[in-house]
Formats: sequence, C-alpha cells, structure tokens
Amino acid sequence: MTASRSQATGFSFELFPPKTDKGIEKLRDTVTRLNERSPAFFSVTYGAGGSTQTNTFATVDWIREQGIAAAPHLSCIGSTRDEITEILQRYADQGIDRIVALRGDLPSGAGAGSMGDLNYANELVALIRERFDARFHVEVAAYPEMHPQAANFDKDLENFKRKVDAGADSAITQYFYNPDAYERFLEACSRRDITIPIVPGIMPITNYSNLVRFSDACGAEIPRWLRKRMEAYGDNIDSIRALGRDVVTKLCERLLAIGAPGLHFYTMNQTEPTLAIWDALGLSDIG
Ligand code: FAD
Repeated sequence: MTASRSQATGFSFELFPPKTDKGIEKLRDTVTRLNERSPAFFSVTYGAGGSTQTNTFATVDWIREQGIAAAPHLSCIGSTRDEITEILQRYADQGIDRIVALRGDLPSGAGAGSMGDLNYANELVALIRERFDARFHVEVAAYPEMHPQAANFDKDLENFKRKVDAGADSAITQYFYNPDAYERFLEACSRRDITIPIVPGIMPITNYSNLVRFSDACGAEIPRWLRKRMEAYGDNIDSIRALGRDVVTKLCERLLAIGAPGLHFYTMNQTEPTLAIWDALGLSDIG
C-alpha cells in the first residue's frame, strides 16, 4: 500500500458525531474499517451550540485513543474568543495537531445577539494563530460553486483569500459533481496567488432525496443530467448506488488528473459507499 500515498497527501475521511449508542457502534466500525486504508486523518464535524459539541469531543477522544489522527472541526459563530480558546487548549493538550476552522451557521431562530465574538472564519484562523501560533495545521472551507450567502464568485474568493492570509495551511471544498467548477476555482485561486493545497470534498451518492435536500441547503449543484438519471431509478436504491459509484469514481479520477492534492470523503459514517470509490480508484494499490 499505499500508506505512503494516503498519508503523505490529503486523503482523509469525514465523520459526524453520533448521538445514540447504535450510532456510536456504527461509527467505531466505520473508523476501524476505513483506517485499514491508512488515511491522513479522520475529521469530525461540530455543530454550533448544544449537545453536539460534547459528542464531537467524545468522538475525537475515542479516535485519539485508538492512536488514529483526528482533526476536529471547530466553528466560531455564537462563541466568545475565550470559549474557543478553551476548546483549542483542550485539543492542544490532547496532542491534536490539525483543526478544520469554520464560521458555522447559527441554528434557525437564533437572534442577532447570539452571534458571539467572531463573525467569519478568517477571524477564527487569526485567533488560532494569535493564541497558538503554529501549534495546529489549520484547514478551512472552500466553495468551488460559491458559498450560498456570497454576493458573487469574486467576493467569495476575496473572502477565501482572507482565510489564507490569516494563516490557513490548506482547504477542503464543499462537495460538487462538476469537475470544471473545481478546475476554474483552482485557476481563479492561482490568479490571486493563493497557493495552499485545496482538497476536493467528495460526497458519495447513496440516496437521491437526501442528496437533493442536503445540496439545496448547502448550495452544492447536482447537474441536471445526474438528477434525471437518479430520478429515473425512483426507489431502486441499488441502481442509484451503482450509478453513484461510477459517477463519483470518474469525478475523482478527473480531479486527481487535473492536480487535486488528495480527496476528502464525506463518509456520512458509512463504510461501503466510500470504500467502493476508494477501491475503484485503486488508491490502495498505488505505491
Ligand atoms: P466563512 O469563510 O466565514 O464564509 C461565510 C460567508 O461569509 C461566505 O459567503 C463568505 O463569502 C462571507 N465572508 C467570509 N469572510 C467575510 C468577511 N470577512 N467579510 C464579509 N463577508 C465574509 N458547518 C458546521 O456547523 N460544522 C461543521 O463541522 C462543518 N464542517 C464543514 C466542513 C467543510 C469542508 C465545509 C466546506 C463546510 C463545513 N460546514 C460545517 C459548513 C460551514 O460552516 C458553512 O458553509 C458556513 O455557512 C460557512 O462557513 P465558512 O467557514 O466557510 O465561513
């Protein structure tokens, strides 16, 4: 294998913190099986406010206990600078060396008073550098198809550059199914002298209606041809999965061919859809 290939570059897996005992069991099985592919790290998402934060800590703790590299996500919206510093200190004490730094989104219904001290992710990156210097490798989010709240592509890119200028080391993109969007984004970054590695986020396709709902919320586009083909399969989950595996494998091949420095899989805590793509790409056979 291969460990060399996945660890040296940006091949990683994303998890969300489970809430139930069954979910915890499933996550542990997923991590154990995916870790056989020697990823660079497992990242764990983080929600603004409430119990999901504790679940993130518990998930990160367990991954670390297995001797596996964990990269917690940390969102800043709704928190004070001191609260964020406390969490970062906890991670530093644990030996965590990579953070995915995000603004996050306030839960619907939250008032303006719940914004906290930091408004945008670039301010979080600056805080990490100010208080922890180079202690963490800082990943930030990138949006080849534009963040849904951005005024336009150029403004969004300007704001992406703020995160890089504040000290981000690398970026992971929102998922997308049109490789041209990634290529254009890399070209636009290059024109602005943004040189950090930008790893594409890859969402395996397992369920049509969930994917549509999720994509509408986060601004990821599902190309018309892909929607139509999935729609034609109706409730035939096996056919949708087979189509998804082919489409996403081809997408990854193209992304690697045009220079993607790795792939970050949104596993949704499922093993098979990600493994099927990983193995179809032959990532474990490349020395
Ligand atoms: P920012 O980079 O701050 O950008 C947010 C918006 O504000 C953009 O429209 C941008 O153009 C604009 N903007 C940025 N800076 C400025 C500025 N200085 N002045 C004016 N406008 C500005 N969410 C979670 O809650 N938990 C997670 O664990 C999580 N993980 C994620 C992982 C990845 C890889 C990605 C791509 C997204 C993730 N998200 C997560 C979602 C993310 O929190 C949302 O997309 C959120 O709306 C934006 O976060 P951001 O860090 O990209 O924000």
